[in-house]
Amino acid sequence: MDDGMDAARAKLLVVDDNESNLDILLGLLADYDVIVALDGHSALDLLRHETPDVILLDIVMPGIDGYEVCTRIKADPRWRDIPILFITAKTDEASLVRAFDVGGGDYVTKPFRSRELLARVRIQVEHRRAMEQLRRTAVTDDLTGVHNRRAFFEQAARLFHDAQTDDAPLAALMLDIDHFKHVNDNHGHAVGDAALRRFADVVRALLPPTHLFGRLGGEEFALLAPRCSLDAVEQLAESIRVAVEGLRFAPPQPDLHMTVSIGLALRCDGAEDLDGLLRLADDRLFEAKREGRNRVRRLRHQD
Ligand code: GH3
Ligand code: MG
Ligand code: MG
Repeated sequence: MDDGMDAARAKLLVVDDNESNLDILLGLLADYDVIVALDGHSALDLLRHETPDVILLDIVMPGIDGYEVCTRIKADPRWRDIPILFITAKTDEASLVRAFDVGGGDYVTKPFRSRELLARVRIQVEHRRAMEQLRRTAVTDDLTGVHNRRAFFEQAARLFHDAQTDDAPLAALMLDIDHFKHVNDNHGHAVGDAALRRFADVVRALLPPTHLFGRLGGEEFALLAPRCSLDAVEQLAESIRVAVEGLRFAPPQPDLHMTVSIGLALRCDGAEDLDGLLRLADDRLFEAKREGRNRVRRLRHQD
């Protein structure tokens, strides 16, 4: 395959009950990773553990037909972004319009014309990749590569909801780099940017995959740690503080040092919702700053 976009081979799911059709398709699509389902129900089952880039979907099949399979795929947020390319022998206008109405991206007609089929598949693969790239860009902070503010709050809401439902622990950390303005003033904005990247990298390297880390803006970051004991979260916060303090920058910035202040709060401290939890962590961050910075603050004095 020469799509010039991505070294990884695209994965296609082909759904067709007709074996001779399948043989032809498998031959034509030899440059793709192809998985096959022989009817609509097996296709929907397969999607539970496979994520194809594009689905080639026959319309007339025993059981549920292709229109219905497409409708169900488009109704599921996990699958709705997978483009559907209908395979159809019916070329009357009503059948084709219906294919688009249920959410199809395009169609190919039987009997297949090989170059046309490959061209239409390639377009759908490119479409899928472009959408994925767009989605990644939309949730990523440009500078540091961590979740941006919007993505952080979206996923944080989900984590808070899950923790509440299961009555499970959830900890929030607010992190703010100390006197970061001085970094910019003394070393310039470009070095400040590089320092923010190093900060994000060093924190990320300390986190298990369950944790959510995002840049809320400027030199302010937030972290959610689900299902962790207070001990574990305190240790994590302290290891972040120590790692940031230990960051060294190559010449010509050997005298650049950073520290971070961290406020820590637990859902069981009395947070009714995500905002409440982050507010508690933020209050404690404020105290950490007031007490001299470069520290983790867990409780208010009066707590
Ligand atoms: P404090 O210890 O009280 O947090 O002091 P601070 O200087 O870190 O806090 P303040 O909020 O006064 O300043 C934050 C600075 O962060 C000011 C701003 O120029 C800088 N900053 C924010 N976003 C960026 C960025 O994307 N790149 C760079 N280089 N600097 C940034
Ligand atoms: Mg700061
Ligand atoms: Mg700040």
